[in-house]
Amino acid sequence: MVFDYCVIGGGIVGLATTMELLKRRPGSSLVILEKESSLAQHQTGHNSGVIHAGIYYAPGSLKADLCRRGALATKSFCDEHAVPYQVCGKLLVATNALEAGRMNALFERATKNNIDVERLDAEELKRREPNIVGVGALFVKSTGIVDYTQVARAMGQVIRKSGGEIEFGVNVDTIQEGPAEVLVAAGERRWTAKRLIVCAGLQSDRLARIAGCKIEHQIVPFRGEYYRLRADKSGIVQRLIYPIPDPDLPFLGIHLTRMIDGGVTVGPNAVLGFAREGYAKFSFNLKDVREYSAFPGFWKTIAANLKSGMIEMRNSLSKRGYLKECQKYCPSLSLEDLLPEKAGIRAQAVMRDGTLVHDFLFVQTDRMLHVCNAPSPAATSAIPIGEMIADKCTTVA
Ligand SMILES: Cc1cc2nc3c(=O)[nH]c(=O)nc-3n(C[C@H](O)[C@H](O)[C@H](O)COP(=O)(O)OP(=O)(O)OC[C@H]3O[C@@H](n4cnc5c(N)ncnc54)[C@H](O)[C@@H]3O)c2cc1C
Repeated sequence: MVFDYCVIGGGIVGLATTMELLKRRPGSSLVILEKESSLAQHQTGHNSGVIHAGIYYAPGSLKADLCRRGALATKSFCDEHAVPYQVCGKLLVATNALEAGRMNALFERATKNNIDVERLDAEELKRREPNIVGVGALFVKSTGIVDYTQVARAMGQVIRKSGGEIEFGVNVDTIQEGPAEVLVAAGERRWTAKRLIVCAGLQSDRLARIAGCKIEHQIVPFRGEYYRLRADKSGIVQRLIYPIPDPDLPFLGIHLTRMIDGGVTVGPNAVLGFAREGYAKFSFNLKDVREYSAFPGFWKTIAANLKSGMIEMRNSLSKRGYLKECQKYCPSLSLEDLLPEKAGIRAQAVMRDGTLVHDFLFVQTDRMLHVCNAPSPAATSAIPIGEMIADKCTTVA
């Protein structure tokens, strides 16, 4: 059989794209191929679970627009499909004069992004969150929390109800584009589709290469390591507590995140990974490391971010160093409060010149679209990202 669409990847981007394709073209034949045994086993199921409001992104940018629309769409999807979420709000806490300056710039940016943000002084911060200290803070009311694995499962149900198929345990290793169809294979198994959309996250560059696409980037895994607060400490904060980010770094800094299960996680950091999909602390995959070590952009990015990289590495190896980062705004936390928690791994695209890619990166041919970079907060923004991808695919011949 020749499918109308084949989607590789059962993460939130592949699922949201599939939902949108089936909505626009009801009755189309569609199959999702996923190598794991269930949905959301990689980035989608290993993240902070935050529905971001979008205050960080340049006003008028695609990221800002997708995040704002994505937050609304995620909440209404959850309402419609009985997926629990909470809008608990988020505080961005400045702990010194440098951060206070950055906080003011963020306030301006949030206002331009039409996001309702309140500026708090140190006293008001203390009143709202007695265990948090800072010289000031921004309060973003609309930030929420959700379990994206549950969102992904609900999307999977919508897809099946709309006639889409999902096949698990299919590790795609061959893609051949022909004039009228694309052949996709995993070992001896084969599928043919008129259009192929690849949303493979941490493996996206490899799939683009096996499909014959000329790409100029490499995925480098960056671990996001977390701790979980002891259960008796989970009442320590009522809202999400974030530091003011360093505008030169792509990550948001270690935060205290209330989870939808009632716990509080601490993290994530951003430390170079030695395996794309190895979640245990010292995971090492020779193929992964060999591949990025041979890529010139990797060494350039390491050289450009040496200082922050070393600090992240030190704090990854030393729980005390990690704790110090959180104590800047939550001084009552102690070493015993931090319990082990599963890590996440970001698919960070790096260009040949060492630039970290912060934007969307697509490679499109007549019959294929490869999502080569879907930057965070792609879980929040997944529904409008799916619409954007569907726009691109429904115009393919
Ligand atoms: C530590 C961390 C914290 C984050 N926190 C947040 C947050 O709080 N809020 C937010 O909005 N975003 C957050 N993000 C970002 C967000 O999680 C990701 O941007 C999003 O989940 C990306 O989804 P995806 O579908 O592109 O990738 P993935 O979820 O990684 O899915 C890709 C899928 O493709 C499959 N696949 C790969 N290769 C093959 C193959 N050869 N054959 C078949 N299948 C294949 C994989 O198994 C996987 O299921 C965070 C990310 C990380 C890592």
